[in-house]
Amino acid sequence: MNRSANQQPGYIKITPSTGDARFPSFLQGFNRRWAAENCQAIYLCHTPEGTAHALDDAFALYHHQIKIKSGGHCYENFVFNEDTRAIIDVTPMAAHNYDEKKGFYLESGGTNWTAFQGLFRDYGKVLPAGSCYSVGLGGHICGGGYGLLSRLNGLTVDWLTGVEVVVKDEAKGNAYPIYVSSDSTNSEELDLYWAHRGGGGGNFGVITKYYFRDLPTAPKAAFITGIAYSWDELTPSLLQKLLDFFADFSRRTDNWRQFGIFALNHKAAGEMHLTFQTVVLPDEDAETINKQYVNPLLTALRAIHPYQLITKPGIAQHSYLLRNSADTVLYTFYEAVQLLNGSGTNQRGKYKSAYMRKPFPEDQVAAIYKWLTMVPEGLPSDGMQQSLLQVDSYGGRINLMNAGDTAIPQRSSILKLQYQTYWSQERYDQYHLDWIRGFYTDVYKHTGGVPDPNNDSTKNVDGCYYNYPDIDLNGRDNDKGKALGLYFGINLDRLKKTKRRWDKNNYFVSSQSL
Ligand SMILES: Cc1cc2nc3c(=O)[nH]c(=O)nc-3n(C[C@H](O)[C@H](O)[C@H](O)COP(=O)(O)OP(=O)(O)OC[C@H]3O[C@@H](n4cnc5c(N)ncnc54)[C@H](O)[C@@H]3O)c2cc1C
Repeated sequence: MNRSANQQPGYIKITPSTGDARFPSFLQGFNRRWAAENCQAIYLCHTPEGTAHALDDAFALYHHQIKIKSGGHCYENFVFNEDTRAIIDVTPMAAHNYDEKKGFYLESGGTNWTAFQGLFRDYGKVLPAGSCYSVGLGGHICGGGYGLLSRLNGLTVDWLTGVEVVVKDEAKGNAYPIYVSSDSTNSEELDLYWAHRGGGGGNFGVITKYYFRDLPTAPKAAFITGIAYSWDELTPSLLQKLLDFFADFSRRTDNWRQFGIFALNHKAAGEMHLTFQTVVLPDEDAETINKQYVNPLLTALRAIHPYQLITKPGIAQHSYLLRNSADTVLYTFYEAVQLLNGSGTNQRGKYKSAYMRKPFPEDQVAAIYKWLTMVPEGLPSDGMQQSLLQVDSYGGRINLMNAGDTAIPQRSSILKLQYQTYWSQERYDQYHLDWIRGFYTDVYKHTGGVPDPNNDSTKNVDGCYYNYPDIDLNGRDNDKGKALGLYFGINLDRLKKTKRRWDKNNYFVSSQSL
């Protein structure tokens, strides 16, 4: 490994002038729309103290144009953009371990996959977190950490008991690491701990470790069910019935071991996909769980409309089910995580999100049907094959918490929606952006074009998820307060107060930072 010129204790600095072959690879992440083409330095951080030295060096040289990067999976350009001059990269810190006093810890440079492997293999524990293997823990956990075990076990931040974060506290001069936790007695430190339970990355400092005094016990197996509905048969009325069924499934309180993903793929993809994971816990008998949970689910779905096996590739987690000859297969839990671990390929993408507390009203289903059957003029006919509305089940144990317990206020929703569209060529950017914006605005036309709970007399929509950031939420006047209100609701004031205390100089800034 080339530990060139500017080696410092605890970090390695790479600059373009070193002619380092690695440099271009550090300037881009998962979404190929974003690049940090003017970046002057990458700081590869190996220790918390090294991270503090790196931050001091970067602030002195590049002022407020420094970004923190873990997995590089941010949907928007918060890390990689034309103003970025330096990147604090935490990926060399990716270990996990158990601390007698503070519990399990994960370093922030790991990924969903390294976290799963380490916790499962070494302790039989799991995070309830995301299913996509390559997502970085740095941004993922502090933004919420939601995944296929969340109905059973809640959000990852519900389990977070401490965090080690390198802060640049002006009163104290140089940057330094601090450990804050549920046991912190100082109220400002308690605020900092609380803010990391959903307040999102890139706001307060560089997170180096996440601590969990306890974690959920891993299941031993999982039934994975994958079924499809052909667009040849999909009418608005069938879509409404399926969405009603899915909302009812998600609202129930007797099936938290089950998680559903309903991929409402665009008509160009040929079929919609419904996937369920039903876990079997260590002391349980798989066949009993099958009879009690999986069979009734499939019987109810058959009564709505005959489904088929998956025959066409969807995006990410559905492709693996293509070759199955049965609607449901039992896997060991490790296999199940591997199977549902599809991040998809790096390409251009745009995303939007929404929480819902109730089933879909008719006007929303009509809008969904309309936009999923529309191909923007000028795009090739297969141009929308990777465009969809993904409806995930929410609720379950997530809703046992109160809105202010963590920074994530959405504690009464039953569904979490993710609008997504992917493409490969820059010349198609505008078509996809216009399509997803038109789609979203139409679905939320009665609540101001966004899922604004303060504008919804039916008390259904409940804002958006910070880890699925959407720059359009700033509105035409580019007011990030609007977006932050949708993400954080009643928790916004405490988050802003914490930001003012711990990052007075607003060193950590993005187009949707606090
Ligand atoms: C394919 C894919 C699948 C996803 N699946 C899920 C899912 O199942 N569940 C879910 O909840 N979310 C999911 N997400 C969203 C994901 O949680 C967020 O995109 C998350 O912020 C990514 O974190 P990262 O470290 O990879 O990204 P980065 O781009 O590195 O960082 C994202 C943000 O966090 C900041 N940040 C990164 N590291 C640190 C750190 N150490 N300290 C402080 N700030 C930091 C960055 O500055 C940036 O603002 C998915 C995203 C993608 C692209």
